[in-house]
Formats: sequence, structure tokens, C-alpha cells
Amino acid sequence: MAQALLDIDLSALVANWRALAAMARAEAGAVVKADAYGLGVVPVSKALAEAGARRFFVALAEEGAALRTALGDGIEINVFSGHMEGDAALIRDAALTPMINSAEQWARHRAALPHHPFGIQLDSGMNRLGIEPADWAALRDAALAAGPALVMSHLACADEPDHAMNATQLSAFRAMTDGIDAPRSLAATGGTLLGEDYHFDVIRPGIGVYGGAPYAQARAVVALHVPVIQTRTVLPGETVGYGNTWRAERPTRVATISAGYADGLIRAMGPQASFRSDDTPCKVLGRISMDLIGVDVSDCAEPPQQLTLLDSRQGVDRLADWAGTIGYEILTSLGARYDRRYHG
Ligand SMILES: *Cc1c(COP(=O)(O)O)cnc(C)c1O
Repeated sequence: MAQALLDIDLSALVANWRALAAMARAEAGAVVKADAYGLGVVPVSKALAEAGARRFFVALAEEGAALRTALGDGIEINVFSGHMEGDAALIRDAALTPMINSAEQWARHRAALPHHPFGIQLDSGMNRLGIEPADWAALRDAALAAGPALVMSHLACADEPDHAMNATQLSAFRAMTDGIDAPRSLAATGGTLLGEDYHFDVIRPGIGVYGGAPYAQARAVVALHVPVIQTRTVLPGETVGYGNTWRAERPTRVATISAGYADGLIRAMGPQASFRSDDTPCKVLGRISMDLIGVDVSDCAEPPQQLTLLDSRQGVDRLADWAGTIGYEILTSLGARYDRRYHG
């Protein structure tokens, strides 16, 4: 079988969520947008619900509806994109709570679903999503009178604890919300790690639950093992792969493995990337192809049957460094061709 194996450790995922939850006196929700960061929203959210998560965050109403079908009643589903044109039936039928992001969304929501729950997303300085302070001043009385389920904002620089933006956004959020009755939420993973000033009533971790930075103590959640299809010896002067970008200087055992950039093994990682066979590092040789990668297995005592790219010793942030990106992009790029196995 040439299919690579993506192993997802749900007990590590639950342990990460519990550890983040234990850092705050606040309620811990979980962010499961983008198919739970590429790991599979149904198994991931079922595991978290079983562990006690009662509030989930998604980006789109469609994601929320799929989550409702998977988890049934009794959990709160908050939709970051709010109430978009055409969403009313989904929001009503799936009992979703849209986070209202603008005066326009507020008007749309109240016209279409006047008695339906909603939350408020405020912009505290990131300038990405949320009601601006001036618009909030105009809407505030009416919105608060209608009883928002949650009032939230999002931090731009929480992965840099010393960044001055954190305190700036904290005081902007406080200025907009101090004294209100509704529960408040500001912290994702990074904000949770910033400490209790940032926790308010609900924390919203995502990446830390999935084992990524900035939660350095996270347990690894994913492992990726890729089968070797064939092995050959190349002699000094011979090349490997497209464009002849790697040339042997000594006799080299080359394993061709069965995964590539179509599986989310980002081509830009190129020859920085390294697989492992047990404890032996095995460097990528030349360019990553769509479905295949050449790897140097000269140092392996036995010809390996498979090579490991991700596990507890080599995580998504290491791959991200090789590719010049972030762990979030590595996770959400993980392809659909893997044999995905869940355990724990
Ligand atoms: C994605 C997202 C989160 C989760 O962020 P992490 O850094 O993955 O913990 C929380 N809140 C909002 C608004 C988001 O968009």
C-alpha cells in the first residue's frame, strides 16, 4: 500500500485542551474552524465534547451546521463570520449563534431572526473583523438590551507576549465592554498564555489544542508516516528529481517515498526538510514532487519500509520553519489522501 498514514492522537488533543482550560478560571471553548485545523471536525469535536467542551467556534455558518449535525443539541456554536446574507435559515435551523461584526449584520440579524441568540464581535485594533468603536457606541444600547450571548474581540500579536499591542487591545476591549452583563472573551491560545487579565469569561483556544506554537508545552497530536516505494543507489555526479537540483557527491541510497506537495508537504520546504527512520535523520534530496519525494537513507542500518515526517520529536512548527510558514498552515494543508486513523 502506497498510502501514507496520518495518525491523530485524540487523547493528546484532549490533554492539550484540558491543560489550556486549567490555566484560566474562565469557561474553555474550542475553535474547530477549517475542519478542526485540518484534523477532522467530527472526531475532534466529539472528543472535546466528551471531555466537557460545551462551546465551539467556527468561521462559517455552513461549518456550524455540519457541527450541529455531528454533535446534536446541548452545545453552543459561535460563528465568527457573523450573520451573512443568505445565512438566516442555517442559523435558525442549526441553532447557531452568529458573532455580529457590523451595523449591517446587526440590522440583518434583527430583521430576519429577531428573537434568535447572537453574539457581538468588536474590533479592538486588529482591523480584521468586528464592530469598530464608533459603530459600537451607536449600537451598544440596543445590542445590550437584546442580551448578547457573548461579546468578544481578537488579539493581533498574542503570540508575542512582550508586544505592546496586547496591552493596547486589552484596554480598548475593556473601554468598550467594562460594566456590561454579557460574558466576554478575548483570548485564543496566545491570549490564554498571556495570563488572567486576558481571560475574561470564555477562552477560545485553537492551535494549542492541536499541538502548535505558541503553546510550547503542547503534546504532539499528529504523526505522519510515508511508505517507501523503491530504493536505489545513485553514484557521484548523478542527480535526483526535477530540475537536477541535487547532485550526489558520494554513493547515496535514495528512497522514493509516496507523498508530495499534493498532500500538503509544502514544496517550499525543499531540501531543508528531513524525515526520520527511528532515530536516523534522512534528508530530502532535490525538489518535492506532487506525489513523491526523494530521501537520503544512506545512514539507515536497514532499508526502511516507511519514513516519518511528523511525530512528537518533529512537530508542525519544525516543518513550518522549513517552509517559511506557521504551524497553522502546515496543519490546514494536510491533504485528503492520507489514511487518517484516530486513536486515544
Ligand atoms: C482562529 C481564531 C481563534 C483561535 O486562535 P488560535 O491562535 O488558533 O488559538 C480564536 N478566535 C478567533 C476570532 C479566531 O479567528
